[in-house]
Amino acid sequence: MQNNEIIDCDSIVIGAGMGGMTVASLLARDGWNPVVLEAAHVPGGCSSSFTRKGYTFESGATTLIGFDENQPLARLEAMTGVKIPRVEIDPGMSVHMNGESIIRYKDREKWINEAIRVFGHAEGQRRFWSLALKLADFVWKASARNPSFPPQNISDVVQLGLRNNPLDVLKLRYAFVSVYDVMMKCGVATPDFTVFIDEQLMITAQSTSKEVPFLFGAAGITYTNYSNYYVPGGLLEMVMKLGTKLGAGSGERGAGSGEQKAGSGERRAGSRKRGAESGCGGEGSS
Ligand SMILES: Cc1cc2nc3c(=O)[nH]c(=O)nc-3n(C[C@H](O)[C@H](O)[C@H](O)COP(=O)(O)OP(=O)(O)OC[C@H]3O[C@@H](n4cnc5c(N)ncnc54)[C@H](O)[C@@H]3O)c2cc1C
Repeated sequence: MQNNEIIDCDSIVIGAGMGGMTVASLLARDGWNPVVLEAAHVPGGCSSSFTRKGYTFESGATTLIGFDENQPLARLEAMTGVKIPRVEIDPGMSVHMNGESIIRYKDREKWINEAIRVFGHAEGQRRFWSLALKLADFVWKASARNPSFPPQNISDVVQLGLRNNPLDVLKLRYAFVSVYDVMMKCGVATPDFTVFIDEQLMITAQSTSKEVPFLFGAAGITYTNYSNYYVPGGLLEMVMKLGTKLGAGSGERGAGSGEQKAGSGERRAGSRKRGAESGCGGEGSS
């Protein structure tokens, strides 16, 4: 972008991470003409990629979930018409612990049997994972149906009951007990299982079982039981794909060169029609 270039836009999004690019693509869908300003020399933020010696590396996030029922990326695709390139990975994760490989199968029954094989306590493990999976399904569903989740006030709680099964409100009690409390209740809080769960929670909740409420920890520890994907060419491709919704200059990538050109520093604006072109400034900040 030239310093004296005037940008024609009606909205400004700061940051070309997945969040900013999601907002910008939704604005464009609604007929706005956003410009995205990014401080770094490539877009993507924590969902970006870089190449070295012909190999692509992720600079932050590596795997994607969110395309199953009630999950947000499926919704984003439906709302914007963007198809995020992806390949499913199943199993989504293998954990190497105490000389053993623990396979996080997507299939729920297969995973519970794997947990029992490794950690014993068959009845407790089954109770723990069945509850975690049930709550995770609820968290995804309620997040999709209720703009304010978790509820911030009484009105949000009422809306939660109205938009879901009214009895679902009772599940909010799990926001007030920790993952560890539930492990204790199920009789599975052994040292090995606690280490395993703590490590799983560090990936998603950045905290450990004694700190994380079970309501959200449940979604964190079960993410491998939903469809997991990688993006061929790296997660930057996902962000660039959203950029194509914004207009010319976005979504280009120097093939094989490792050079990212989201907007190539150009920020363009289009007309104010639905799906209007607008720029995704990829280089330098304003
Ligand atoms: C190591 C790591 C691994 C992860 N693994 C996964 C995973 O496997 N799966 C998963 O789903 N999630 C994962 N995550 C989380 C995921 O990457 C982030 O939640 C997501 O990318 C955040 O997107 P964002 O747009 O909210 O923020 P960010 O990605 O932080 O984007 C913010 C952008 O704003 C820019 N910016 C900030 N201030 C300004 C300014 N003043 N002017 C202009 N630009 C500005 C920044 O440069 C940045 O590009 C991981 C995160 C990390 C760090």
